Amino acid sequence: MNYNKMTVTDADFKGKKVLLRCDFNVPQDKATGEITSDKRIVAALPTIRYLLEQGAAVIACSHLGKPKGTWKESLTLAPVAKRLSELLGMEVIFAKDIIGEDAKAKAAALQPGQLMLLENLRFDAREEKNDPEFAKELASMAEVFVSDAFGTVHRAHASTAGVAAFLPAYSGMLVEKELSIMGKALDDPKRPFVAILGGAKVSSKIGVINNLLEKADTIIIGGGMSYTFMKAQGFEVGNSLLETDWLDYSLEMIQKAKDKGVKLLLPVDTVVGKEFDADTERRIVDSDKMPADWEGMDIGPKTIELFSEAVKDAGTVVWNGPMGVFEFPAFAVGTEAMAKALAASEAVTIVGGGDSAAAVEKLGYADKMTHISTGGGASLEFLEGKELPGVACLLNK
Ligand code: AMP
Repeated sequence: MNYNKMTVTDADFKGKKVLLRCDFNVPQDKATGEITSDKRIVAALPTIRYLLEQGAAVIACSHLGKPKGTWKESLTLAPVAKRLSELLGMEVIFAKDIIGEDAKAKAAALQPGQLMLLENLRFDAREEKNDPEFAKELASMAEVFVSDAFGTVHRAHASTAGVAAFLPAYSGMLVEKELSIMGKALDDPKRPFVAILGGAKVSSKIGVINNLLEKADTIIIGGGMSYTFMKAQGFEVGNSLLETDWLDYSLEMIQKAKDKGVKLLLPVDTVVGKEFDADTERRIVDSDKMPADWEGMDIGPKTIELFSEAVKDAGTVVWNGPMGVFEFPAFAVGTEAMAKALAASEAVTIVGGGDSAAAVEKLGYADKMTHISTGGGASLEFLEGKELPGVACLLNK
């Protein structure tokens, strides 16, 4: 996959109408509809500001929630337009529809330096179907397409990929950062390259393990997925998370790592709980001696030391997935320790989206990381080496 894509600084946008795909999928209070975190809106500001300063007329668009092709008043982007306007200190013209009369009239009248926002793209079922007619109509309002919603680049939707069939397509600054940092980590990493994988299931990370076995020097496996690897080698895992369908695969991966000379590290001790509960009785046991009626909930202190040591002298570290049930404070120790180890490391540190990113942010280590990906699913597919439709459609450099 070619990550070397044309970006906003590679083109002249003066006087151009730009269709800008943003990620304004913000969390909202269920009762009041109030935006509870405007982080994603703030993250979009650099590209918006840059385009406006360049003299572009910007037609921003995004999805919000899962309206599944129906008009849902609770998922209107109107509150986003308001917040965007407050953050930029300028008017944001809000269209009452997506490709309807209101949007088209407002887009036609839009002047350089002005910004408008279309209504929630997913109010129209054709968006997620990547309907070519819908994409063509969207594209017809602009002369250039800029993709800045990394969280959706793994989806082939009309606004993420379809429009690129009708318009020259560039990455925005957010997408450009993701591509340059993660792309480099995969194509030409500073070595040793260490990948830390955790989370609940082996089955959701198969592609990642497989791809990283071709690229990494060390792969660390913690969290719920580690028990399937332990069981595959004949160890007792008690009531721990286990995917019996993936035992053979786990053994294959262990063998593949050996064949390729990749160091595969698994937990050597485990914090087990009597039950799956925040306040359950807990014990630390060696990973090959887990009691049959207890459940693995976190990595133990010896494992923390082992994993942290591997990170210490790394050149690049990619981390995706927590080391334990970090939602329960008593079992968040391993995840916290890894966040700390990454923060202290001189390596290029990349945290995949989702839970590991949330953990790093919650612990206050976010500014100590080289990069925290803004897309959970997208960063996982990136690490799988899959072609991302929203990236593949952008112009090559
Ligand atoms: P994922 O979305 O696959 O990255 O998984 C994240 C989830 O994995 C979190 O909700 C964690 O609570 C869960 N998890 C991590 N370790 C364990 C474990 N030892 N047992 C059960 N769940 C776990």
